[in-house]
Amino acid sequence: MTVRGGGIFGLACAWEMCRRGAKIRLIEREKLGAGASGGLVGALAPHVPELWNPKKAFQFESLVMAEKFWADVAATSGEDPGYLRSGRLQPILDDAALERARARGTEAETLWQGKARWSVVRSETFGDWAPHSPTGWLIHDTLSARLHPRNAAKALAAGISALGGEIVFGDGDDEGAVRWATGHWGLADLSADLGKTVGVPIKGQAALLQLDRPHAPQYLADSVHAIPHMDGTVAIGSTTEREFTEPDTTDSQIDAVVERARAACPALATAPVIGTWAGLRPRARSRAPMLGYWPKRPGHFVANGGFKIGFGMAPKVSQVVADLILDGRDAIPHGLRVEDNL
Ligand SMILES: Cc1cc2nc3c(=O)[nH]c(=O)nc-3n(C[C@H](O)[C@H](O)[C@H](O)COP(=O)(O)OP(=O)(O)OC[C@H]3O[C@@H](n4cnc5c(N)ncnc54)[C@H](O)[C@@H]3O)c2cc1C
Repeated sequence: MTVRGGGIFGLACAWEMCRRGAKIRLIEREKLGAGASGGLVGALAPHVPELWNPKKAFQFESLVMAEKFWADVAATSGEDPGYLRSGRLQPILDDAALERARARGTEAETLWQGKARWSVVRSETFGDWAPHSPTGWLIHDTLSARLHPRNAAKALAAGISALGGEIVFGDGDDEGAVRWATGHWGLADLSADLGKTVGVPIKGQAALLQLDRPHAPQYLADSVHAIPHMDGTVAIGSTTEREFTEPDTTDSQIDAVVERARAACPALATAPVIGTWAGLRPRARSRAPMLGYWPKRPGHFVANGGFKIGFGMAPKVSQVVADLILDGRDAIPHGLRVEDNL
């Protein structure tokens, strides 16, 4: 069986199928993480716990599964994917938002089934890491986690090899059923094949700051994510650009994002920028992951549309894709299917 694409979706699906005993060849045209998965950010964070729908339920299950998924990858590969369920902080801007946050905390007790909490806490609990909050209150959720994107790819690849899978670079030959996990290139291929646009690339830029807070929760403030990693860095993301001419270069837009991250949190004020990165997110028409059969191409499957949450969705995506390809069991929910984009 062939998996095409060495990004997070291709690697996670190849890993899961190897784990279930399948013989897998992963073909990556360029290098692991050549697409959106080669970035810096790595936030695994939930949507708000209200107005529940199949996409939120799928994401919740994926985030809950992630801890064991990444522990298994680390144990098999001997590599550290940089996973930690370190939680997330969000400022509460006014009294109405405070009331809403408390109501969502109550909703989370049921929707998150006691597996994680969404609570309202005083800012001072988190010292100089607390993002500025006009009310003095923060939302603290314990479902969010972080992952080091490049280390995660390395760990999955080593895990696949340890389980007997083959990883080929360049133009390898397909063997058996083909699963296309080829990011925004795959969306373009599928659109061309079907004669309609099923998705588009959305550019994002991110930055890496030097600051050693490996166990601190990530924060989301002023629409900017700050993600402390295990290696003495904090990733800052991201821009969202529908129009662009240079897909993989950064510009002054990322400087503005870094400024907003610094303004939100005293601890980041003087942390130096040590790297920047840009890439293209694969956004399906539905804005949700896009999974299932490639229409009118028997033996071909699609796993795409990770958009802004591909890392968080990867464990559950790999599970339902393996169920479909190996066992013929279709557990892909409505809203996350290829046909939802046609
Ligand atoms: C700035 C930025 C910040 C982000 N932050 C987060 C975040 O914090 N949390 C999160 O969950 N997500 C985040 N994302 C989104 C996440 O990166 C994507 O959802 C995810 O990486 C998509 O993975 P993929 O495997 O589908 O595609 P890609 O990573 O793009 O991988 C596709 C791979 O397929 C290969 N390929 C293409 N065509 C072929 C072919 N014909 N044969 C073989 N190989 C081929 C490419 O070389 C590439 O390696 C972010 C994205 C960006 C740009």
